[in-house]
Amino acid sequence: MNTPMKVTLLAGGVGGAKMAEGLAALPDVDLSIIGNVADDDAFHGLWVSPDIDTLTYSLADVIDRTQGWGVADEGHRALQTLSKLGAETWMTLGDRDFGLHIHRTMRRAKGDRPSDIARDVANAFGVKPQILLPTDDVVQTRVRTDDGWLSFQEYFVRERCAPEVRELAVHGLSDARPTPEALEAIAGADLIVVAPSNPLVSIAPILDVPGIRAAVSDAAALKVAVSPFIGGKVVKGPADKMMKALGERPDALGVARRYASIIDALMIDRVDAPLGAEIRAEGLDILSSATLMKSRDDKARLASEIVDYARAQQLETRIAS
Ligand code: GDP
Ligand code: CA
Repeated sequence: MNTPMKVTLLAGGVGGAKMAEGLAALPDVDLSIIGNVADDDAFHGLWVSPDIDTLTYSLADVIDRTQGWGVADEGHRALQTLSKLGAETWMTLGDRDFGLHIHRTMRRAKGDRPSDIARDVANAFGVKPQILLPTDDVVQTRVRTDDGWLSFQEYFVRERCAPEVRELAVHGLSDARPTPEALEAIAGADLIVVAPSNPLVSIAPILDVPGIRAAVSDAAALKVAVSPFIGGKVVKGPADKMMKALGERPDALGVARRYASIIDALMIDRVDAPLGAEIRAEGLDILSSATLMKSRDDKARLASEIVDYARAQQLETRIAS
């Protein structure tokens, strides 16, 4: 029996939730997850927080496994009514899912802290790891295309990531304050893991909340990121197009360069071994494995390789000191 390791994961939606499930499956891990709230938006008068809900639904094992988001065994009658009444319904919100958005909206209107709402929802769904918000303030990613600025969900869902991305901005960021829970989870961690989430629209909006990046960089924890690129391709989503559009390499080396100042090591896929020398030149240690997570076992194995590496590093530091 190992002493429990305090692990803090920075995570977006689908890629983040897979890593979260892997870490949550390990016996000697005390897991806190800091999620992304910059995808949040209002629909039909309700406040929707897609990445936080993906974490909650995944860890509660009620997620729709085929699409990777939304609730399994879902119906869309509420959306049909809205459509009949003339509402835009490109954001697919299911009936079960609507219940959570109603609850969240009601509690926000009462003035409850978004962090408290997220915690209570996770508890009600039986989620063991802590799901934390980087900030309780409203921060929202905006995407500039040739047709002007779009909200993140307009770009991601309505336009299916088709338009060329010219610029990204996160509204509300400069005035946002970090939550004490997130700062504590970062400062008190033995290991900080950056999930294989979209570096630009999932991880950056967490790190860019004033105070968070500095906290990560000051933290005593070992810091390991997992590349969302496998052989220069994403598993899903627009990270490759976005990185290219913004002048960064759309591969594990681009991820290494983006995170080099805050991490110690990068987990890359075995097929990306040819990038090893250049990643090491960024001052990073390399871990390599099969990083495509499909089954429960894939997720737990990848997570345990990261945790084992952290334990070995801890041991080395202890012996050296
Ligand atoms: P979103 O918020 O739902 O878009 O999800 P995230 O930002 O958390 O994750 C999107 C990223 O996860 C994409 O860039 C994918 O390449 C990456 N991703 C998804 N599944 C896997 C996986 O099994 N392994 C790795 N290495 N990356 C993955
Ligand atoms: Ca997202």
